[in-house]
Amino acid sequence: MILGQKITVLGAGIGGLSAALALAQRGAQVTVLEQAEAITEVGAGIQVSPNGARVLEALGVADRLAARSVTGRAVVLRDGLSGQDVAKLDLTQLPAHQRYLFVHRADIVDVLADAVRAAGVTIKLLQKVVDAQADGTVHLATGAQHKADLVVAADGLHSRMRPALNGTAEPFFTGQVAWRCLVPNVIGHPMHARVHMGPGRHLVSYPLRDGKMVNIVAVEERKLWAEEGWFHEDDPQNLKAAFAEFDPEVHLLLNATEKVFLWGLYRHPVATRWTDGQGRVALLGDAAHPTLPFLAQGANMALEDAWVLADCLSQHDGTAAALAAYELQRKPRVSRVIEAANANAWKYHLRRGPVRLAAHLGMRTLSRMAPGRLLHQFDWLYAHDVTQASTPGRGSASVV
Ligand SMILES: Cc1cc2nc3c(=O)[nH]c(=O)nc-3n(C[C@H](O)[C@H](O)[C@H](O)COP(=O)(O)OP(=O)(O)OC[C@H]3O[C@@H](n4cnc5c(N)ncnc54)[C@H](O)[C@@H]3O)c2cc1C
Repeated sequence: MILGQKITVLGAGIGGLSAALALAQRGAQVTVLEQAEAITEVGAGIQVSPNGARVLEALGVADRLAARSVTGRAVVLRDGLSGQDVAKLDLTQLPAHQRYLFVHRADIVDVLADAVRAAGVTIKLLQKVVDAQADGTVHLATGAQHKADLVVAADGLHSRMRPALNGTAEPFFTGQVAWRCLVPNVIGHPMHARVHMGPGRHLVSYPLRDGKMVNIVAVEERKLWAEEGWFHEDDPQNLKAAFAEFDPEVHLLLNATEKVFLWGLYRHPVATRWTDGQGRVALLGDAAHPTLPFLAQGANMALEDAWVLADCLSQHDGTAAALAAYELQRKPRVSRVIEAANANAWKYHLRRGPVRLAAHLGMRTLSRMAPGRLLHQFDWLYAHDVTQASTPGRGSASVV
């Protein structure tokens, strides 16, 4: 029933493009409406974990992306003050089909956009949605009105369609701000994601583009409000001052920063309604479930959503039933991932004292004595393969 169906996707981010590709590959006539004048992404990295990489493989773009990615060999938790390793997830021990990639956001969007165009999808730029209705009617800044058999809203954190289905809900400030920046790899950063943990703050770094650059996301607890959004420039001195107590490698990286962006981390509830109940509208990716970046899963969840949505539409006879199945399948998974991400912040930010010492000792011991057990804690997350409709395993993601 998906064959020939006219589907409009709002937003050409990772979620929108992967959904457009998955739908077009199943025979839908897909149009993507994007507000920007070009398909670009912010200068930042993204970790594509095996669960997201499986979707990219099934979409036929994994090899092209792998050629532009760094294969992650480990995730290492460090004491940010001493610079000593606390725990290591050895990603080389993952089964060969489970890839863990560090990718520049512009590269993943570029690879997806090429594949989308090759699949016959029409991408229309400068199509800002200013209003949307639960029946799928979309009003554009150009004054035009748009209607399709089905609208897939992948228009991100500030989605116009989400409030049409759910009303407005105020997010709350988590008391944390984050800086992001890209710097030259001045320290010979290994092919690891490193999490430097300190009292009330942590800094994540990993290499990109043949290891020539390093992506940094640094989080600090703060009472002061900071704006939500990715484009607020800040003085690099503020970032350096916040991590002044951290180990010398962190200083070397931060001394290489020229441009940094700062934004506030807000928690948004998972949308109560992802679909309109009539088979006309579905939310996908951040539009349905924005997540804090403490488990590196927002884009991976958008990739999983995209596959499951297309799969449900091709499996079910009616669109309403297909969308209901999509929501039913995705909500518990996404909610679990978001809870795990929320729980990670306090673990990274333990203050000085016995609790911090004991926690680090526990992680260090587990990492040395049972490295396999540490890695397999993440099977429920990384080994989950939506392209095989696999059943999620059990466990918790308490380390990254
Ligand atoms: C610091 C940080 C680090 C992160 N790291 C990771 C990571 O390592 N791994 C990971 O999986 N996730 C990570 N994430 C999360 C990830 O970036 C998001 O979850 C992901 O980008 C969501 O994709 P999306 O397509 O749903 O939304 P978006 O990427 O926000 O795309 C939305 C698209 O819709 C367009 N749009 C928006 N509004 C309109 C409108 N009104 N009209 C038309 N078009 C519109 C936008 O221009 C954009 O192209 C991170 C997030 C942050 C903040």
